[in-house]
Amino acid sequence: MCGIAGIFNHPEASNLAYLCLHALQHRGQESAGIVSSDGVRLHTFKAMGLVGDNIREETIEKLPGASAVGHVRYSTTGTSEIKNAQPFVINFSGGSLAIAHNGNLTNAGILRKELEASGAIFQSSMDTEVIMHLIARSSKKELIDKIMEACSRILGAYSLVFLSQDQMIVVRDPKGFRPLVLGKIGQSYIAASETCALDLIDAQFEREVEPGEFLVINAHGTRSLKPFASGATKSAQCIFEYIYFAKPDSHIFGRGVYEMRKGFGKQLAREEPVDADVVIPIPDSGVPAAIGYSEETKIPFQMGLIRSHYVGRTFIEPSPSIRHFGVKLKLNVVRDVLKGKKVVVIDDSIVRGTTCMKIVKMLREKGGAKEVHLRISSPPIKWPCFYGIDTPTRQELVAAQKNVEEIRKFIGADSLRFLSEKGLRWFKMQNPSEEFCDACFTGNYTVDLPDSPEIADYASSLQKFST
Ligand code: AMP
Repeated sequence: MCGIAGIFNHPEASNLAYLCLHALQHRGQESAGIVSSDGVRLHTFKAMGLVGDNIREETIEKLPGASAVGHVRYSTTGTSEIKNAQPFVINFSGGSLAIAHNGNLTNAGILRKELEASGAIFQSSMDTEVIMHLIARSSKKELIDKIMEACSRILGAYSLVFLSQDQMIVVRDPKGFRPLVLGKIGQSYIAASETCALDLIDAQFEREVEPGEFLVINAHGTRSLKPFASGATKSAQCIFEYIYFAKPDSHIFGRGVYEMRKGFGKQLAREEPVDADVVIPIPDSGVPAAIGYSEETKIPFQMGLIRSHYVGRTFIEPSPSIRHFGVKLKLNVVRDVLKGKKVVVIDDSIVRGTTCMKIVKMLREKGGAKEVHLRISSPPIKWPCFYGIDTPTRQELVAAQKNVEEIRKFIGADSLRFLSEKGLRWFKMQNPSEEFCDACFTGNYTVDLPDSPEIADYASSLQKFST
């Protein structure tokens, strides 16, 4: 996962890009970077770590110009090191070009081998660099045509912001896996992963970039192109953005994330009620669903766990030792809420199950809870994501290895229930034609996986078997 932002035609472009990245920090904490254009040259700053720790006033001063593109990253492909930080910049026959990418390509491995065989030298291990090689090799004349040609060869998830000396080009893949929104401040254009970035800089939300849309923004205005045959593909927006990834104050895919999460919690309450004294969330990601669960069941909502806000989203950090230590650093119990009580604990998802296990233990041993009933506001995650969410392999996904009762035992809860796959789609009643990607729950991968043929074959054989 990553967060991206682009600013075109604003005297404080780098500063605004910096603020957008701040708002998008939840989408990636490994590295942050901004590239600006002064109309003649691109200027780059990239660093490992958080936006606020690395980008300072002096940094912004060294990023002059009226347009800028920014990126926050956590690695789904490529290792966590500075050479893999974005925006990624190339100088080629067509000029200088920066790219910020959110998503994961599913044929980057194959394309990379092909490019290397014909002499390409790669600087990073990122799938994003493949796009830049394809652009540099295109024989088309205009930059937009080069970009469209490159994109016709890649598969998977890509929300992209490109910045050249004099234009910004914004792209969303035909399935629209990852969100990308457009805003304006006067005559300046803003592109960002989520609307929370627009809010911070007082930009007016204009619309979402549509799946398959290429938007060229330059001194002549804006031009929207849809080179991929319309209607040929159904969209596959990532439902996990609603469940966990996006910020609850954002609106993406046409809806408010907070309301969606609350709705998942209400649906979960309808499907899986339990006799209890108190509903508590695992903060922060479980909070809206717990409010929904409490509203629906009329069981009082309380904060039985308090989160330290001085620790990041520990799961995102790649080293397992940091992750395990992080649980203790991050959460503590409120005994007065829990002691002697039957507690319903709401979380948004179970991935490895290790965090939940520690929390359940903490609620009993430190908090004195009498019963701990775990309710998860999404179905069991059984399949890895190849479209940009950092989920582990099937071996590490607890729900791919164990059934619900086995997971309950592993975690140590008195009861464990998940939202059903049908329940997850409660909101689709409003607009049944919308399509979402739910491959992490169903194994139904809507875009081919040439780089991972074994898993694609396995998933499709299971689907055939089950229908
Ligand atoms: P665990 O109990 O170890 O399965 O951890 C589950 C927690 O990780 C949940 O509280 C989620 O909010 C969070 N989570 C789910 N998916 C991800 C992800 N892709 N990246 C980071 N955290 C996640």
